[in-house]
Amino acid sequence: MSVSLVGAGPGDPELLTLRALRTLQRADIVLYDRLVPKCILELARRDATFEDVGKVQGRKGMEQAAINARLVELAQRGLHVVRLKGGDPFVFGRGGEERDALREAGIETFVVPGVTAALGCAAASGAPLTHRDHAQAVTFVTGHARSGGAPELDWAALAAPKHTLVVYMGAANAPGVAAKLLAAGRDGAIPVLIVENGTRPDQRLIASRLDALARDCAILDPDKPALLIIGEVAALADSAQAAEYWAKASAA
Ligand code: SAH
Repeated sequence: MSVSLVGAGPGDPELLTLRALRTLQRADIVLYDRLVPKCILELARRDATFEDVGKVQGRKGMEQAAINARLVELAQRGLHVVRLKGGDPFVFGRGGEERDALREAGIETFVVPGVTAALGCAAASGAPLTHRDHAQAVTFVTGHARSGGAPELDWAALAAPKHTLVVYMGAANAPGVAAKLLAAGRDGAIPVLIVENGTRPDQRLIASRLDALARDCAILDPDKPALLIIGEVAALADSAQAAEYWAKASAA
C-alpha cells in the first residue's frame, strides 16, 4: 500500500517526467485535480480508476480533509494510489498537507516532482526568470491569501528592482498585488507578462505593465489558469519563441 503524489506539470504532456509516466502506468486509482488535462490522464494504466477531486465551475471541490481521508482509505485497501496534481505537488499544491496526513496514518508516500507553472510558462513564453542583465533573483508567491485578498507578504522586498516576481493564483487579486507593489515603490512601467493556459495548445500571452495590470487581468477567464511574471525580464518574452515552442512540440 502506497500513495504517490505526482506532479503532472503545467499541461503539456511532454513535460511529464519519466518517473511520473511510469508511476501513472502502475496506478490502480488516480485522484486528479481540475488542472490536469485529459491528454495526461490518458497516459495512465488503461484499467485504472479515475476520481475527480478538483473544483468544477460553480461547485466546490472536495475539501482537503476529505481528500486526505480518501487517500488513506484507498491505500489501506492495498491499492497503488496516484494523487495527480498540476505542476509540482510541493509548489502551491497542498502536497505537504497530504504527505503529513498519509505519514500520520503510517502509509508509505512517494513524491514525484513536476515542472511547476513558473518554469513551464517561462519556457513557453521565452521570458527567462533570471538574466544577468535584468534579474538576479526570482520569487514565487501566491496572490491569494486564505482569507481571500492579497496575502500579507514582505512587499517592500518583493518590489526590489532586478527581481522577478512570479504570482500563482494572482489574476483575481491582480489589483491588490499591483497596488501593494506600487505602494512599496516598484515602478508602474515595469513589464508584466500574463500567461494564460501556459504550455497548452490554447496558451495566451498578454503583455502588460504594473500600472495596467488590474485592467488587463479583468478580461481573463477565471476558469483558466493564469500566471503573472512581474519584472524586467517580462519584456524579454517573445511570441516568436512561443510559436517556435509549439512548432517543435508538434513536430516531435
Ligand atoms: N502546483 C502547481 C500550482 C497550483 S496553484 C504548480 O506547481 O504549478 C494553481 C495556479 O498555478 C493557477 O492559479 C495559476 O496561477 C498557476 N498555473 C498552473 N498551471 C498553469 C498554466 N498551465 N498556465 C498558467 N498558470 C498556471
